Amino acid sequence: MAGEPQADCLFCKIVAKEVPATIVRETETTLAFRDINPQAPTHVLVIPKVHYPNGAALAAAEPAIAGDVLREAGEVAADEKIDESGYRIIFNTGPGAGQTVFHAHAHVLGGRDLQRLV
Ligand code: AMP
Ligand code: ZN
Repeated sequence: MAGEPQADCLFCKIVAKEVPATIVRETETTLAFRDINPQAPTHVLVIPKVHYPNGAALAAAEPAIAGDVLREAGEVAADEKIDESGYRIIFNTGPGAGQTVFHAHAHVLGGRDLQRLV
């Protein structure tokens, strides 16, 4: 069924607490934890607890939860005090964009000059 946990999915295992992570925020629908290979002083991943392969698929199926992920990304930025200096929210989508974990996730990056991308 759509959204059900996938046995071979690393982030479903983190949601189930079968794989450890440094969790910084948790809500009924989302989890936020530090990226294991940080690319900036703050690098937190915000994921929905339900399994969808990317952010767009999540938004199409469960728009309210996609909104929760985005709101939590903003809360992480406030907690980490990068909301005023600026931060970037990234949804890598597909292998050509560097996506390696096919469970929807938002990267929240900040704490250094991120430079203009687009
Ligand atoms: P992406 O490349 O957009 O699919 O992002 C996946 C991210 O997950 C990468 O930035 C990895 O460093 C991160 N990652 C992989 N395994 C773990 C883990 N066990 N705990 C935290 N972050 C992880
Ligand atoms: Zn998953």
